Order: sequence, then C-alpha cells, then structure tokens
Amino acid sequence: MKAVRFHRHGGPDVLVYEEAPEPVLADGDVLVRIRACALNRIDVWGRRGRPGLEIPLPHIPGSDVAGEIVSSAAVDVLPGRRVMLQPGISCGRCVACLSGKDNECPRFEVLGHINTGGGYAEYIKVPAQNVVSIPDEISFAKAAAFPLTFLTAWHMLITRAQLKRGEDVLILAAGSGVGQAAIQTAFLHGARVFATAGSPDALERARALGAYEVIDHYKQDIAAEVARLTNQRGVDVVIEHVGEATWPQAVSSLARGGRLVTCGATTGVNGALDLRTLFSRQLSIYGSYLGSKGELMRAARFFFSGQLDPVIDRTFPLADAALAHHHLETGKPFGKIVLEVS
Ligand SMILES: [Zn+2]
Repeated sequence: MKAVRFHRHGGPDVLVYEEAPEPVLADGDVLVRIRACALNRIDVWGRRGRPGLEIPLPHIPGSDVAGEIVSSAAVDVLPGRRVMLQPGISCGRCVACLSGKDNECPRFEVLGHINTGGGYAEYIKVPAQNVVSIPDEISFAKAAAFPLTFLTAWHMLITRAQLKRGEDVLILAAGSGVGQAAIQTAFLHGARVFATAGSPDALERARALGAYEVIDHYKQDIAAEVARLTNQRGVDVVIEHVGEATWPQAVSSLARGGRLVTCGATTGVNGALDLRTLFSRQLSIYGSYLGSKGELMRAARFFFSGQLDPVIDRTFPLADAALAHHHLETGKPFGKIVLEVS
C-alpha cells in the first residue's frame, strides 16, 4: 500500500510517501481503507522525536482516521461500514478499562504515536472496539477531524473540570485543534466562553463558534482582560494546552475555587506555581490525556446532529504530508488540517 513514513526523526522533510507493507489482522481486528486522516500536534512530536521516546522505525504517524471497513477478524463487525476511529488503544481487560477509564489503562497508547501504525496510509488495522460508525451525510474529512480534539476537549471540560451550566470558561488558542473543539463543547454545555486568538480574523471566527468575549493573546494581557471582562472575578475553568508561554496568565485568570485543566505544552514544559496562590485561592489543577471510548461515543452524538462541527482549515493529498506538517507548524491554521486519501 501507499503510506507516508519517517525513517529518522527531524523536520517535515523526513516524511516520505512510499510503498509500505499492508497491516496483517490479528483476532478481533478490522482493516480500514483510509479516506481521510487529520493532523495533530502529537504527529509533530513523534516526527521530531526526543530522548526517551522510542518509536520503532520506519513509522507511519496519524491518530485521527476515517474510512471504510474492508475486512474483519472480529465476529460481529462486517465490512462495508463507514467509520471513524477512537484514537486511544487500550487492553480492554484491566480495572481502568473495565471502569470506563480506558485512557488510564497501563497499556494505553495513542493510535499511530509509538507502537501502532497510524493513518498516513491507505490501510490501517485497529481493534474492532475502536470503530465508531458514521452516518452517510458526514464526510470522511469531517469525521477524521473530529475524534482526537473533540474527545480531548470533552474529557477536559466535562469529565475533569465537571463543567456546570452558567460557568465562565477561558479557552486558550481558539484556532488550535483543541481550542476550536473546546469552544464548541463549552458553549454546547451552557458555559460563557472567553477565548484567545492571535489575529482579528481568528478572533472573529472564535466568536462565530460560540465565544462570548475574545482576547488577542499577542496584543493584550490575558489575565488583565479576563479580570476586566469578569468584573475582577476570574473564570471558573481554564482550558490550557499552550504551556510555558501562557501558564502564568492561565493560573492568574482563575477565580477563587477555579479549575485549570491542561493537555499540552506546545511552547515549553515548565510552569511555575506560587503554592500560596494554589491553597489560599483553593485552586485545582488537572492533567488530561485524550479520553475514553464512551466519552467519544457520547460526544459523537452531538457531531452527528450538527451541534459540534469540526473546523477544517485546509486539506492536502496524502502524498503532500510534509507540506501539511509545514503548514501546521508555520502557517497559523485555524482548525484542523486533513490529509485526503484517494
Ligand atoms: Zn486496560
């Protein structure tokens, strides 16, 4: 089959469009003919590599996949279904998995990140429990753009932060994959959303997705703007994934009793915290990593009904994956970048 692989770590140019072996099914697996695969930051981290991250090479990246089942080694799943894939692979047998917390499974892995082949290819194999059927009216590109970021946003807001109707939420970087998903998910749940972005156009688009107030994170002081817009109170929940560049502002934006949830560190991994602020203002800080299959299925109902709608910035043919990575890293996209597989 055709696939995009990297044989060594590095910049976008290490992504090579070439022939690769077709996956071989084990019991319980299905083979999916890929029609679209969305990019995520985790693809870039894997491609760049770092000490301690041992990815067997060559490797096919890609965690957000939609396509059609073409063969099945699972008793109850027939070929022909249009599907998107839950991007978390877990054992299905441990206490965490059986408690519906499969993203806390000791063997949890993001599809296409380390030991599993990903979606930059014509075919992929996954355990049958990782497929979610999609209705005919949902395009493969939209279906590929949904799972990872909307599942992440759902887990952060609903499961970790326990968002309640009427609460104020600050969402950093509205145009990022997680940002656009979190704005829509928070709005859907009746929150008042404050979003940051880096250009007038992106701020306008954030409003269109449901943001009540927007903040230019290059020109304005985020915490000062939040204070001004909330009558000095701060927000109940902060959705953070930018890392070092925004961490102090994110913490300072919290109201008393506020909750900060983080799922990423794009700009750096170190965040300082004044412990007196933490205890005296009774703040809570949560880490969040993807989400469970059950959460994806719950979020998907709102996708299929049109209440959640992944924003696509741009599509590229699979063979242009290197260009697509370059666009993700330098093009300031608003929303998801999707590879289409013909
Ligand atoms: Zn498990």
